[in-house]
Amino acid sequence: MGSGKRGFINKRTIGLSVGFALLFAAIAGKLVFIQLCRADQFAKWAEFIRLRRMPIPASRGSIYDRTGRPLALSIETASIYANRREIKDLALTARQVASTIGGDPKTYRQKIEQSKTIAWLVKNVDPRLGDPINRGYRVVEHGKVRFVRIDGVGVQRDTKRVYPAGAAAAHILGFTNFYGTGLEGAEFVMQDVLRGRDGVLLAELDARRRIIAETKKIIREPRSGRDVYLTIDLTIQHIAEQALARVAHTYHPQSACAIVLGANGDVLALANYPTFDPNNALEVPASKWRNRAVADLYEPGSTLKAVTVAAGLNEGISPNAIMARCTGHERLKGGGLPCSLHHPFEAGHGCVNMPKIIRHSCNIGAAHIAMRLGPEKLRGYEKAFGLLDRTEAGFGCEAVGRLAPADRWPLIQLADIGFGQGIAVTPLQMACVYATVANGGVYVQPKVVREIRGSDGGVCRPLRLTPPRRVVSKQAASLLTRMLVRCVEEGTGKNARIKGRTIAGKTGSAQIPNPNGRGYLSGAFVASFMGFAPANKPRLVIAVVVNRPQGSHYGATVAAPVFREIAEKALWYYKVPSDAPAKPDIRRNQDADRKRLV
Ligand SMILES: [Zn+2]
Repeated sequence: MGSGKRGFINKRTIGLSVGFALLFAAIAGKLVFIQLCRADQFAKWAEFIRLRRMPIPASRGSIYDRTGRPLALSIETASIYANRREIKDLALTARQVASTIGGDPKTYRQKIEQSKTIAWLVKNVDPRLGDPINRGYRVVEHGKVRFVRIDGVGVQRDTKRVYPAGAAAAHILGFTNFYGTGLEGAEFVMQDVLRGRDGVLLAELDARRRIIAETKKIIREPRSGRDVYLTIDLTIQHIAEQALARVAHTYHPQSACAIVLGANGDVLALANYPTFDPNNALEVPASKWRNRAVADLYEPGSTLKAVTVAAGLNEGISPNAIMARCTGHERLKGGGLPCSLHHPFEAGHGCVNMPKIIRHSCNIGAAHIAMRLGPEKLRGYEKAFGLLDRTEAGFGCEAVGRLAPADRWPLIQLADIGFGQGIAVTPLQMACVYATVANGGVYVQPKVVREIRGSDGGVCRPLRLTPPRRVVSKQAASLLTRMLVRCVEEGTGKNARIKGRTIAGKTGSAQIPNPNGRGYLSGAFVASFMGFAPANKPRLVIAVVVNRPQGSHYGATVAAPVFREIAEKALWYYKVPSDAPAKPDIRRNQDADRKRLV
């Protein structure tokens, strides 16, 4: 009996011992495994719990105009925060902050209460405001002054983006968000260049996960962003914006833009109406941010006749050849061709050659050049002049011209395209057409960024530009230039004349297509003027587009005076000498002209 019981105990003891031994072996094995194989991982976890990595913001690069005038800068600021987890008494902390830096304790308390972790008590203020917070709350005890740290409240070094020129060049510059990321314009397009690389700060945390100040250590220094120099000339930009503000005041258009290009493709100015101040961009409707000069398509109307005529001349059509006999209206298969007639051409423009088509803006004549060329050839020239591709000038958000493939053009569409309808382009693309004529028939890609400079002084060219390409012969460009000069001197472009200057230019008054795709909106027009000066040795190419002006819809009345104002002031600013003998009668009959011209 006894031995049997002993045998049972023995068996149980042995079973337990084996069990313990196995368990021990498993634990030991696990420990060895952890020590040998997963030590790194555990060390990282421990570090993660004990250490905190914090970014040191890199200072953002600045943006300047071509002469080095600052357009966008980052200034140092301080932001004061409260960490709710570290605050024992909300009311006390709020009172201490208010008595240290001023302000209302109730507001501070609300801000802390509304946040689960970090609340920004004040953001982007004078960096000197951070000093009293760092020093602490002032306490007087037994006649002695001492400072105590305010629980959970600290100062973070910060930067704020400012635009010293205010609303000037707003659409070119764009703006950044609260965190310094570019949202629009150059701030957006050049984000990678401007932002630099943030540094890293490492600090240890105590048991309550608060930063131990003495342990802060920089493990990577921040690298500043590089500076961007634009091709914009702030003075020309101001001139363009003033002229645009004046036309907006007189004709209350829905929108308007003006572009000034240098002969080498540099965008010297690009102004839009309506506009905004990038210093408080987020407070205005987003529609005001739109850079309409590159983002909006419009039907160019008569200004496009320059392409049709250039193509005709380049294809060997003689400038003296009669292209059509205009009676004011012509029937074609699929529709009618109207000509806009004004005194003394009430009965039509008569027999028209290319100079007359440009001078009096004859639609029927331009349509006949287009029909003579045929759809393939005409479309080829639209493409060569850059109307079917983005300019890639560096603005971002650029629209691309729209034109159906040539094999799908009915005859009436071919005729319409000849005088600028049935094709949609951006104002910048049209400016490039006139720049090509000004450059003797060579297309030069426009650009808005001149160079990028690093904080080490290194300079680099930012954009890979496509090489200039010949679009039409030098002779065709110079013949067209002479026609455009006569258009300004004695044709529809008279309101762009400047005493002592030769100006080449063309008006446009185009209908606006109905968004439903059927026909055109009644009473809605785009008035425009494109040209360059001085005509013989062009320095400036200027494009003005006014969308839905009230009171008049003629390019000659609405847009040509804007061109004149910009050209006159800009040529004077660049000290370009006069190149034409002054004519005494230049503005004598201007009011009569205004009523009459297209
Ligand atoms: Zn006509």
